[in-house]
Amino acid sequence: MTTGPTPLIAANWKSNQYWEGCVEFINELKELLPEQFDLGHEPPVDVLICPPFPYIPLMGMLLEEATIYLGAQDVSRFDGGAYTGDVSAAMLADLECDYCIVGHSERRNVFSDTDELIAQKILQLIEQELVPILCVGESLETRDTGQAVDFTLGQLSALKTELGRCEADRLVIAYEPLWAIGTGRNAEPADAQEMCAAIRDWLRDNLRGYEKTVPILYGGSVKPENAAAYFCQTDIDGALVGGASLKANLFAQLVRLYKV
Ligand code: PEP
Repeated sequence: MTTGPTPLIAANWKSNQYWEGCVEFINELKELLPEQFDLGHEPPVDVLICPPFPYIPLMGMLLEEATIYLGAQDVSRFDGGAYTGDVSAAMLADLECDYCIVGHSERRNVFSDTDELIAQKILQLIEQELVPILCVGESLETRDTGQAVDFTLGQLSALKTELGRCEADRLVIAYEPLWAIGTGRNAEPADAQEMCAAIRDWLRDNLRGYEKTVPILYGGSVKPENAAAYFCQTDIDGALVGGASLKANLFAQLVRLYKV
């Protein structure tokens, strides 16, 4: 039997959710996905929640008895010191985070995160043994000119050295076409599959062995109504979910859909 990467359903809460919302979300999730809160049960899909920084300790406590991973949405490029407002990878490790998103298009476009900066953040995460979830994906203009695959693989190539420093089973790649994020307009499943297959081939050609262990996620307006069409694609190993991850019942449905 051949085994591929372990599937992952990841929630990116962005700057949403408050203390009470976190508690309510987890209480509801306990009812909806009791097996994720049973440590004796091996879930078939990994589940991850990336809350805003201030709620990471609270979520860590709420998830203490759960097989649900905890992650952050960004990290400092520095290892600590006089960097007002930054949160270091060592702090995330101290809070027992397992994963951290880097290179999300909102960070690239709103906060001008460059490939150089993302590379530094990846190195900080490796140093602290956190798993980077690297987001890549093209704009609508790039897709319309037929350059989507070249552009997206170019984003990986720009970070090849740093990605190669991650252990093969300690990296996640999320394909998120910009025009599908938070817009309600999701990519055609066949187009998402084509891109994720191209990413898998890139891994095989550039970081041999990683193609077998690195989960490749699709992200962009994933919801219970469209998720199954992605989850049945050969090269899509799960989803990075924004809007639909804010409601426990929608998020639980996504996790259940992957298990089917
Ligand atoms: C995201 O922010 O990574 C995302 C995919 O958001 P949404 O699901 O809301 O499109």
